[in-house]
Amino acid sequence: MQGFVDYTIAKRSVLEGLRRGSLDRLDVCDAHPELIRVARNIGLDIERPCPVCTSGSLKQVRFVYGQQLGHLSGRAVYPKDWELELSQKYEEFRCYAVEVCVDCQWNHLAACYLMGKRFQAKTRRRASRKATSSD
Ligand SMILES: [Zn+2]
Repeated sequence: MQGFVDYTIAKRSVLEGLRRGSLDRLDVCDAHPELIRVARNIGLDIERPCPVCTSGSLKQVRFVYGQQLGHLSGRAVYPKDWELELSQKYEEFRCYAVEVCVDCQWNHLAACYLMGKRFQAKTRRRASRKATSSD
């Protein structure tokens, strides 16, 4: 995946702040009602408990953003493989994966990455160059 940024370290520091008391639960459990609604309806189940309230209601929601996407920019990915369809149609766009607890409203950006035809073409070119350079 191109331009992959993992926000696990940022998440750990937020959770640590919560444990130490420098952050309040209200500071971190502030998911927008729309985000909760999307997570409840189309979010993918995450197979681990919520790091704040330990409930089993943790969901992942992915959003796509990009100028080329036009009116689709900002939409939640649904069905699950919709971003793959988009990546065959558009040159470049960005995906944001957010984890959301539908019980306590904890939410955090988990990762972001680039997708699109541009990156698939690059992989193909690289593969063909490798094939010709060996002879
Ligand atoms: Zn929770």
